[in-house]
Amino acid sequence: TKNNGRNGYNFFQPSMNIQVQSQLQLNNDLWQALEHNELRLFYQPKYCAPCGPILGFEALLRWQHPVRGLLSPDVFLPIAEKTGMIVNIGSWVINEACRQLREWHDSGHPSWTVAVNLSALQFEQNNLVQTVTAALNRHGIPPEQLTLEVTETTAMRDPDESVRILTELTTLGVKASIDDFGTGYSSLLYLKRLPASELKIDRAFVNELESKPEDATILSAIVALAQSLNLKVVAEGVETAEQQAFLTSLGCNTLQGYLLGKPLPPDRIGELPDYVGEE
Ligand code: C2E
Ligand code: CA
Ligand code: CA
Ligand code: CA
Repeated sequence: TKNNGRNGYNFFQPSMNIQVQSQLQLNNDLWQALEHNELRLFYQPKYCAPCGPILGFEALLRWQHPVRGLLSPDVFLPIAEKTGMIVNIGSWVINEACRQLREWHDSGHPSWTVAVNLSALQFEQNNLVQTVTAALNRHGIPPEQLTLEVTETTAMRDPDESVRILTELTTLGVKASIDDFGTGYSSLLYLKRLPASELKIDRAFVNELESKPEDATILSAIVALAQSLNLKVVAEGVETAEQQAFLTSLGCNTLQGYLLGKPLPPDRIGELPDYVGEE
């Protein structure tokens, strides 16, 4: 939510009206976007940390707006969350990611995986299992090659319910990943019960590794925790070779970040190195 300013009366200021108006406009445009195929998925590579090859990709949503150009999710997902349209958008994302994965599988990359992000609302929809099943079947995707990323905050909203939902999903064979890990307040007890196969360390811990030595301590504690729970660890937001080396030495399984590859439209992923890391 937006900063309300010093006095809290900003609601009456004209600039705010413009903001409200542009939010409403965005909301209308977003329905059109779905109908007119203006949504896009970009793909960011995930590399195996110790061995080097691309393991798969995280699908990240973009909106090719006819007037405003390419929009990032921060601009339009908050309003989609508010109106509930995120559920429709989320279903589109799951189906489109599976379609793309099929294309890659058929063009010489049968082992690649894809991860999609689930919003809290989508995670709690009771037809999520059907949506996922339908997309897998439609495109003939082996379930274990689809990962669903749920943030730690979402998973901890109603921990018992999350265990139930994730159990249902992982029974299909898909993988679950706990995203933005370290920013929420997971109870270890629940973390142990969640049928997830990986933790994604929040970018914030990786970003400031060089400037905040305490982050190195937190990172090594998170990796140790994950290993003791038999979870794979993905580090995201890797931007420097130092970060890459440190995270690899800690035992992170997978690395993702601008150093290794930015999110790209599918027709550009050929530009990525197939393999990274030390010789
Ligand atoms: P996230 O799931 O934590 O995704 C990682 C974000 O970090 C992405 O931003 C990615 O482009 C960015 N990133 C990756 N590597 C680096 C790096 O080295 N440095 C920096 N500074 N950033 C890096 P993006 O694509 O703007 O997405 C932002 C957020 O929007 C995502 O955060 C996720 O929460 C949400 N999102 C994106 N796509 C979807 C979607 O299809 N459905 C839902 N529900 N949420 C989505
Ligand atoms: Ca994510
Ligand atoms: Ca994340
Ligand atoms: Ca995030």
